Amino acid sequence: IILIFLTTEPARVRVSVRVRPRNDEDLADADSYDCIELQPEVKRLKLRKNNWSSESYQFDEVFTESASQKRVYEVVAKPVVESVLNGFNGTVMAYGQTGTGKTHTVGRLGKEDPSECGIMVRAMKDILATSGSFNVEISYLQLYLESVQDLLLPEKNNIHIAEDSKTGEVSLPGAAVIKVRDLDHFLQLLQIGEANRHAANTKLNTESSRSHAILMVYLQKTYQGKAENEKSSLTKHNKNDVPARNGAPMLIKSKLLIVDLAGSERIDKSGSEGHMLEEAKFINLSLTSLGKCINALAENSPHIPTRDSKLTRLLRDSFGGSARTSLIITIGPSARNRAETASTIMFGQRAM
Ligand code: ADP
Ligand code: MG
Repeated sequence: IILIFLTTEPARVRVSVRVRPRNDEDLADADSYDCIELQPEVKRLKLRKNNWSSESYQFDEVFTESASQKRVYEVVAKPVVESVLNGFNGTVMAYGQTGTGKTHTVGRLGKEDPSECGIMVRAMKDILATSGSFNVEISYLQLYLESVQDLLLPEKNNIHIAEDSKTGEVSLPGAAVIKVRDLDHFLQLLQIGEANRHAANTKLNTESSRSHAILMVYLQKTYQGKAENEKSSLTKHNKNDVPARNGAPMLIKSKLLIVDLAGSERIDKSGSEGHMLEEAKFINLSLTSLGKCINALAENSPHIPTRDSKLTRLLRDSFGGSARTSLIITIGPSARNRAETASTIMFGQRAM
């Protein structure tokens, strides 16, 4: 038990912020101006309140509008991917208002231009390129109105989230789990997932910005007992793996979650009724409960309140403890969206 305490770094969420370039709407709005100023060399962001004052915030990294997809991946996700390759669970999440670049950052396939592909594709590329041949499987899910839907097998709906009472391991027994052969296969699967997401949302008469998209990557590797050094450094965190010391093959399992969160904008509940009101309540519930968990992590609280929403129940074994978590918040540059931008910045600040 002492060993476990000594080898576990305090759980902390790494928080980066990315500003997207001005779009046509920003440029067309004569009254609007940039309210964001970045100081990348000191990793600070200034939010201009008015002509006289601004507020300054510290992050782990700030990405200007000209930051490349490659660099964003290397700073935000690669350390998590490496840790997952070493046997720990990990999560990468994008949070922000609709239209600020969450999907661009995590989900973009880069078919037209491979240098523009996002975190999901780059992470899979690194995982598949790792020597020692892992068994790599994925599930791809959408979480909408507290219901988990399978994006790879869309007829499966309302998938149950199970949790092992001994190990705390979260699983989705009803979801499709598909072994990834190579990067092309993975790109095909992502594309199928995107098409299904679009179809499901059209049927439900909602927008994809209202749902969370969650890619789960399961890694498995079998070690022979002889690889004593490698194995022991990999398994310090998991006492269940230690007994297989001499000779017996040992299974190392880990999991990477990459999450494209629903748009964080406040949905006006006052004018909403029925379906829209339900939607507003549930999105607020899952993002609020995520915020509470991230807060608890940041404060090193012994209790992370993951039970309040399906989103946090899914994340339960993939953040906190020995798992590594990286959050990228995305914002627009224009003062038109200042209120939403300020609220996104506060979400990120509370995670630090
Ligand atoms: P979200 O998923 O947060 O709703 P998107 O990723 O769909 O936002 O981005 C909205 C639009 O802005 C898309 O057309 C996208 O290509 C563009 N965009 C977002 N971020 C960037 C960026 N960093 N560089 C270039 N274009 C971007
Ligand atoms: Mg999106």
